Amino acid sequence: MSELVISNLTGGPVGTEILRGLSITIRSGEVHALMGPNGSGKSTLSHVVMGRPGYEATGGSVILDGVELLGLPTWKRAQAGLFLGLQYPTEVPGVSLAEMLETSLASGRKSRVTPHADVVAAMRDEADRIGFDQRFLERALNVGLSGGEKKRNETVQMGVLKPSFAILDEIDSGLDVDALRAVSRRVLHAAQEDGLGVLAITHYQRLLDELTPDVVHVFVKGTIVTSGGPDLARELEKTGYEQYLPEQSVATGVDPFADLPF
Ligand code: ADP
Ligand code: MG
Repeated sequence: MSELVISNLTGGPVGTEILRGLSITIRSGEVHALMGPNGSGKSTLSHVVMGRPGYEATGGSVILDGVELLGLPTWKRAQAGLFLGLQYPTEVPGVSLAEMLETSLASGRKSRVTPHADVVAAMRDEADRIGFDQRFLERALNVGLSGGEKKRNETVQMGVLKPSFAILDEIDSGLDVDALRAVSRRVLHAAQEDGLGVLAITHYQRLLDELTPDVVHVFVKGTIVTSGGPDLARELEKTGYEQYLPEQSVATGVDPFADLPF
């Protein structure tokens, strides 16, 4: 049983403090959904936790099975078992998906030096599971892929690398209905069969119809304002976030956070 414990985390892009002290504990096999208005800092959270260059934690801790991740380089966080499916996956010309996965597996915690043919087979199997056309696997990483194809590419990576915890930042964006269902099921199976702990950042109930969350967190202005069960996501679909915004900003349009130093 693994545990990812985020406590009182503050930080953001260097010199700013978008995250205002948030805490989430995710255990193996649990699916947590994180929902919140645009610009509330959801992607920032994913970057600070993963250690994206240019981002920093100014306080709090992120502990994976007793190991403090803050301060470690990104690759060591990945080695510890963390995976980030980016909202905007990066294009890497000249590097194939197979090369990237082979290198990642070899430098992982278990140093799984995997024969090239096995990596390709695993990659193809994962692509089939989510109905992703195999010809896209031959391209340089994410180069020339549509938004939805990039998201499926991220899902293939997650399936092959088998991390302990995955933060999936709008993995549903750009997916058609069939792809959305297939990706949701793949992630759910990883949680149920492999014990993957999931933090799924999403705006849509559609993802959560298949990928049923254990916990739904509402994230506003850099912190979690409430958490609940799957019904909370359905309620948000009807009501929006208005009730969770500070009254003053709803009534007057004035942002009470405007004078905070970020
Ligand atoms: P969300 O994912 O919830 O839509 P983001 O985490 O992308 O929100 O952004 C939160 C806030 O941080 C936004 O106001 C955004 O403009 C700001 N922000 C994000 N990245 C940077 C950056 N590199 N430099 C400065 N501000 C940033
Ligand atoms: Mg975002």
